[in-house]
Amino acid sequence: MSASSEIDVLVSEVGPRDGLQSIKSVLPTAAKKAWIAAEAAAGVREIEVCSFVPAKLMPQMADAAEIVAYARTIPGLTVLALVPNFKGAENAINAGAHKIALPLSASETHSKANLRKSHADVIEDVRRIAELLRSLPANRRPGFEGNIATAFGCTLEGVVPERKVVELAVALMEAGCEDIGLSDTTGYANPAQLRRLIRLVRAAVGRDKLSSVHLHNTRGLGLANALAALEEGITTLDSSLGGLGGCPHAPGASGNIVTEDLVFMLDAMGLRTGIDLRKLLEVRQILRENLPDDELYGFTPDAGLPKGYAPGGWGIA
Ligand code: ZN
Repeated sequence: MSASSEIDVLVSEVGPRDGLQSIKSVLPTAAKKAWIAAEAAAGVREIEVCSFVPAKLMPQMADAAEIVAYARTIPGLTVLALVPNFKGAENAINAGAHKIALPLSASETHSKANLRKSHADVIEDVRRIAELLRSLPANRRPGFEGNIATAFGCTLEGVVPERKVVELAVALMEAGCEDIGLSDTTGYANPAQLRRLIRLVRAAVGRDKLSSVHLHNTRGLGLANALAALEEGITTLDSSLGGLGGCPHAPGASGNIVTEDLVFMLDAMGLRTGIDLRKLLEVRQILRENLPDDELYGFTPDAGLPKGYAPGGWGIA
């Protein structure tokens, strides 16, 4: 999704999906709604609110349809839902998501282990979803993003060939996606790799078809990667409040890059996000109260804002 004219970077909050699906606790529906509303009130313009997966596989997402319906009532908010397959897409469309994202793991081993699907199976799902979308009236047709997971490396396969990622980006577009996102699902990416892959994928599918990246901070390179992506002209960055989710293999590491730290970096650099950082920091309280056993991450929340801090560029004197 491209950033609107009054902002330079669209910060897309994915905590209610990526964060919550990574922890055992189930956040009550009312608390999810309060979280989403509070972030929107702080100026966050896009939130990935849920994943349409069977509740028996992921009880954390059992209220997906209700959450989408609620989030849609918030003016100015783009409501994004993750859909693992055709059935999930149908449910997300019926619930009224503004945009759906379908993950395709660049590592076929990972795809088979997690979704029991080969690349060809997933591409077939994309084709069917695109067909369904074409049959809908334009005002009920959500946007459709193909998200390449494990694009920078896989815990099962290790190195993922870049030509494979490019090939899959082309296949997703040909099957009917409107744009592509690249996900560092495993926290393997480094800035040089990010720059290279963004250029390669854009050369194959068109510059405007790749505008978002999804980063994890597993090895501490999250913000370095975000900066590299920005310098390549990426305009949408995924992040999660408090880095919720963490990483089971790397104690002390957040899950996604931390929204508060990302907004601090962008804000301090003078890049407009439309987000009020002070208000955003207060939203953590909702998670702290409702998820007392889960750790929250973030350097800016721990350290506090610098003396004399004001949004719109800091340190210019
Ligand atoms: Zn993720």
